[in-house]
Amino acid sequence: MTPMPQRDASADYPLTLGEEPAFCPACGQALVERVLEEDHRPRLVCPDGHVTWRNPRVVVGTLPVRDGRVFLARRSIEPGVGRWTYPGGYLEVGEAAQEGARRETEEETRLLVEVGRLIGAYSRPSAGVVTLVYEAAVVGGEALPGVETTEVREFGPDQIPWSELAFTTAESALRDWVDSLPGRGPRHVPELYVTGDPREEAPGEPGEAQG
Ligand SMILES: [Zn+2]
Repeated sequence: MTPMPQRDASADYPLTLGEEPAFCPACGQALVERVLEEDHRPRLVCPDGHVTWRNPRVVVGTLPVRDGRVFLARRSIEPGVGRWTYPGGYLEVGEAAQEGARRETEEETRLLVEVGRLIGAYSRPSAGVVTLVYEAAVVGGEALPGVETTEVREFGPDQIPWSELAFTTAESALRDWVDSLPGRGPRHVPELYVTGDPREEAPGEPGEAQG
């Protein structure tokens, strides 16, 4: 097995991830980039020393499975409009990861699911997100387009529309899911740094990107 790459790529990515908070949320003074004592990279700091921390956001989603087939949704909005992905979105404050994944799944596919095992955790530093994808058992509902989707369809493991996926996380999670099925595999070595999502072509667009 190839060893995991080990490096700090923080210098490769902008501190602000394309969003530019100009003023301190605590006191309203202007923020500047400054390396703090005993720190390793610049932070956004105001004259009074309040630090505006910048951290990746958490995206949660599921691969809803029934009778060995996975449901995917076709996106109705950018990024990745017209392409397929698993249901998912930003985790809300106060929500457990699995609960957010269930909520996003029901909003985007109208399927009722029980969230199960973690398929994988996918870092996308260039998009400022970490995505958690769970397998989920479909326990009810009806596959219908919902928020942000035009079509929901089920695919067997050999029918995945690999060339029509919206995001690199969709490809990674589906590949991991297929490789985890009996008689498949082995699981691949996860990537640490992945580029190429549609979001990167429009930096600074807040949007509903899943990474
Ligand atoms: Zn301040």
